[in-house]
Amino acid sequence: DKFNIAIDGPAGAGKSTIARLVAGALGFVYVDTGAMYRAVTWKVQHEGLLPEQEDEVAKLVNRMDIKLIPGEGGQQVFVDGTDVTKEIRSAAVTTHVSLIASYAAVRQSLVALQQQMTKSKGVVMDGRDIGTHVIPDAEIKVFLTASVSKRAERRFKELQESGTGTMTLSELEQDIARRDQLDEAREISPLRRAHDAVLMDSTSMTIEEVVEEILGLCKD
Ligand code: C5P
Repeated sequence: DKFNIAIDGPAGAGKSTIARLVAGALGFVYVDTGAMYRAVTWKVQHEGLLPEQEDEVAKLVNRMDIKLIPGEGGQQVFVDGTDVTKEIRSAAVTTHVSLIASYAAVRQSLVALQQQMTKSKGVVMDGRDIGTHVIPDAEIKVFLTASVSKRAERRFKELQESGTGTMTLSELEQDIARRDQLDEAREISPLRRAHDAVLMDSTSMTIEEVVEEILGLCKD
């Protein structure tokens, strides 16, 4: 039987790695929604727009095509046919993505896409507003968190391993704290734990332990 799993939490809590492993174990599709906001941000920069130009960004989001291709090593991201999987992890994109993600037109358009992807169930989706807004009726909801320093450390390793890292550990820590604030303070679907989401603090847990705990919830 297929169902949906929503995994939300702040930047670097391990959501993407954990969501990918949970999806693999269940034979479900993994969807990284942060990558979609990053894709819009990449396109804005690629077109030479400033992230502050909200009206222009709104027009752009409505004429761009975002494709997510699930794969073994993670999800590939295409914007208007161009593979931007690596580019969307750059410091330039990371710095501006939370502003872009605060725009109503951007959220409306991406949430509609995300809801379409979850219709046939069997999806593990990670983001900030999945349990509260995108799939409020998800069968399993997890809110995953960890200390800021632990999150920066993990993100640093992850970026190093994938060869896409251009930021230092302390830059990452500052960036994570800044993005958390923006994500929690924004007016439209801010980062919040859904009332029915299971809270997991992964500061002193391994990836495998968190995955096991989520898979355990699925058996109940
Ligand atoms: O998950 P990741 O850190 O790649 O997400 C990048 C940014 O996209 C977040 O800091 C947040 O501002 C935004 N985002 C969002 N809603 C989501 C997923 C990501 O606003 N569902």
